[in-house]
Parts: sequence; C-alpha cells; structure tokens
Amino acid sequence: KVYISNLFKYSRCELDPKLLDAYVEGLTHTLDWMKSLEDNSDLMVKQYAAFPFVEGAESMIYGGFHGASTGGPRLMQAYRNAVEKKRNIEVWLNSPAKRLLMTPENGVIGAEIEKDGKKLNVKAKRGVIITTGGYEYDDETKTNFNLGSPMYALGCPGNTGDGLRMVSEAGAGLWHMSGLSCPLGIKIPGHTACQAFRPRNQIGYILVDQLGRRFADEKRIEHHIGILSVNHYEGYSLNYPRIPCYAIFDQTGKERGSFAPSYGSGWLRHREKWNWSRSNDPEIQAGIVKTAPSIEELAKLINVPAENLSATVKKWNDDLSSPDGIDKEFGRIGAGEKPNAAPLQKGPFYALTIYPTLLNTQGGPRHNEKAQVLNSFKEPIKHLYVAGELGSFWGFIYQGCGNNAESLIFGHIAGENAAKETPWS
Ligand SMILES: Cc1cc2nc3c(=O)[nH]c(=O)nc-3n(C[C@H](O)[C@H](O)[C@H](O)COP(=O)(O)OP(=O)(O)OC[C@H]3O[C@@H](n4cnc5c(N)ncnc54)[C@H](O)[C@@H]3O)c2cc1C
Repeated sequence: KVYISNLFKYSRCELDPKLLDAYVEGLTHTLDWMKSLEDNSDLMVKQYAAFPFVEGAESMIYGGFHGASTGGPRLMQAYRNAVEKKRNIEVWLNSPAKRLLMTPENGVIGAEIEKDGKKLNVKAKRGVIITTGGYEYDDETKTNFNLGSPMYALGCPGNTGDGLRMVSEAGAGLWHMSGLSCPLGIKIPGHTACQAFRPRNQIGYILVDQLGRRFADEKRIEHHIGILSVNHYEGYSLNYPRIPCYAIFDQTGKERGSFAPSYGSGWLRHREKWNWSRSNDPEIQAGIVKTAPSIEELAKLINVPAENLSATVKKWNDDLSSPDGIDKEFGRIGAGEKPNAAPLQKGPFYALTIYPTLLNTQGGPRHNEKAQVLNSFKEPIKHLYVAGELGSFWGFIYQGCGNNAESLIFGHIAGENAAKETPWS
C-alpha cells in the first residue's frame, strides 16, 4: 500500500483509497487464484518493483507460470482452461459487442453484438461486465487524450476502444486517461504489432533525437513508461523531436547480440510469428537497422545533422575514456565492475528507429470498489460493471505487472457483485 500510494503521490495522479484497499486485499489472493486456474499449476514468484528506490518497494512480488511457452498465450491458456474446460462455459469468439442496451428504469439490460454477420441483442438479467481492454489501436482516442504521436502498440489489435465508446454512451465518467503503459519499440514493416526495444544486455548504445542530441540516461528509462522520455513537444519548432528517435550502436554492440531481443510476450512474436534475431543480420538486410561505415554516413541515412551526431558520439567516447569513465551528460558509468556504458568506436555503425509502442492504456470509466461503473457524478450506472485495463485503478505511473493482477481482482469482484444483483425481469 505504501509503495503504490507513493507512485500516485509522486505522479500527482488521482488515487481512489477504496480501490487501493480492494486491490491490496485482492493481491493476497492472486497467487491462489492463478493456481486454481489449472490442476498442478506451477508458479514462479520473485521480487519485482519497477521503482526500487520508492518506499515500500521491497513488498512487491511478481507471480507467473513456469514453462517454455511464456507470456500472454500462457496466461490465456490457463484462463481458457478454467472457463471452457473446468466450468464448461461456452465462449463466443469473433462476436464483438457493438452497443449497450439500456432502459431508463433498469439501466443496462444487455448488449447488441454481431455474430456470423448478424446483429443479436443479448439479454443480461443481472449485469453486463465490460472487459474490452484499452484503445491501443484507436488513433482517434490516442490523438485526443495522449501526448506523443505516432504511438504504436505491442499487443492485441482488437483493442480499439470499443468499450470506451459503449460506456460513454451509458454516461460513464472517465478517468486516468493520461495513464499509459508504453515502452519504446520498433515498427516492423508489414506487421501490425511492434517489437519492444529493451536491450538489457547491451551497454554500448545511446539514444539521440532528430537533431542528434542525447536526451536521457538510456539505461534508466523504465520500460513501462518509456513514452515519458520521448513525448516532449517543442513549442517553437512545432515538432516531437524524439518521435521517432534513434538508437545508435557500433560493431562491438552488434557482436554482443540482439539489438532488440524478443522476451516472453507480444503479439508480434506469438501471433505474427516474428522474432528479432540474435545476429541482427536479417534486420540489417531488411533495412530495419540502418548501417554505415562511419557515424557521419549513418547520420545521413537517418536524416540527422551529421556534425551534431558526430559531436554527440565524440563527447560520449571522450567521457567514457576520461579517468573516471563517467558520462558527464546523464551519468552512465563506463568503468568499474558493473559498467552500463561502452564507447561507440568500432565501425560499422548501426541505427534503429524508435517510437513509443503501447503495452496498454489505463484510461476509461471510473468504477467503485464493487467494480460498478460510475457516471460523471460518481453514482453507479445500474447493472454495469467493468474489469481490467479499461478504466484501470492504475493511473499515470504504473508498476509493471500490475494490470493482470488487477484484471483478476476486479474480474472477481465484478463477477461476484453482478451475480448478486436482483434480476430486472
Ligand atoms: C506484450 C505485453 C506484455 C504484457 N505483460 C504484462 C505483464 O507481464 N503483467 C501484467 O500485469 N500486464 C502485462 N501486460 C498488460 C496486460 O496484458 C493487460 O493490461 C491485460 O491483458 C488487460 O486485460 P483486459 O482483460 O482488460 O484486456 P485485454 O487482455 O486487452 O483483452 C481485451 C479483449 O477484448 C476484446 N475486445 C475489444 N473490443 C471488443 C468488443 N467490442 N467486443 C468483444 N471483445 C472486444 C479484445 O480483442 C481483447 O481480446 C502486457 C501487455 C502486452 C501487450
């Protein structure tokens, strides 16, 4: 509680104390709930606080399934097992909800859906629970609510903000629309989802803007809020100078391995079956990575002023070869037992074009601790519930891995409370 409250305090974001209580209480059950999804399930648990310097960080743990097949598909397999196999509940895929059905007396009484090309009205006697995720693939909503464009995505292309439109029609009050879980990533031509840029094992790279200037301690950019390091808009040039920005590597970096390793999750890897190679060669051949024998020639390929990029790389190399080995701009460390910086000296040189790429959005309808959707006056809309990242408890700053726990917790709460409702007919 201390840790999460501090994240809200430091980001000056609205925290609902009752939701925090419900969330923290729910956290005490999440590992058991996960285990119960499958027989003989095997979980791994480790400590993980995205911001270890924040008070209370030592209390944060992460739980996930073991096994070769990781990430989202593994979690979905467990959910589907619990719903379709253990409880024999029929699930209709490819049957999107279009509008909520409402009456003045009873509030939400069902939903209009589309199935096999036909419109169907589905009656809900006790309640409708909306779990349609975020608006990662809805340019209109992103443009209107969030700074940083273009902003691509890493997850399910079905997340087009339908739920947001449906609850708005029902009169929901919106909140946390500025909350994004948005790493940096790479747009892969011909693919819908992007590749995250998370070169944990690489120390010899820098990020530069369109004028060839560094703008952050590259190794301290927290993965889930990468957007905050690039969505700076310049009022005088009327431009986002860091969207895109560029990651610069040298040959030593290439020999260290993948520039953008594919870790556990992501639509690109699991559904589009595309992985970044260890050698980086296919990506170079495909033009996803630009390469040139010198920094000046590389600058021309990415349209960055060559004299600026050369000066930036020279300063970087000079700093790291100085007696203390410290990068004077942002404090990366090139010397000692655990260096997190290395010079860019050995050609050829390489550049990757980097964009903000969403994991998910947090904004949506405000809800209470019973998971009831609230209107703009914070009154429950009858028979309407929400769970998951749509109208998330999380706001501007997000603790990585907090969304799936939230889906489990408020999914339980919404289901239990909807089931307790008196049928409207
Ligand atoms: C690559 C990646 C890694 C992540 N890693 C983690 C992690 O380690 N830990 C963590 O906590 N979170 C993680 N997240 C975030 C987490 O996956 C999401 O926040 C979480 O899945 C949200 O669950 P949800 O049920 O609200 O929405 P989603 O899982 O997004 O599901 C929403 C579903 O609703 C469907 N839908 C949309 N519109 C309609 C409609 N009109 N009718 C019917 N269906 C509709 C969508 O197609 C989608 O299938 C990750 C996300 C990504 C993309």
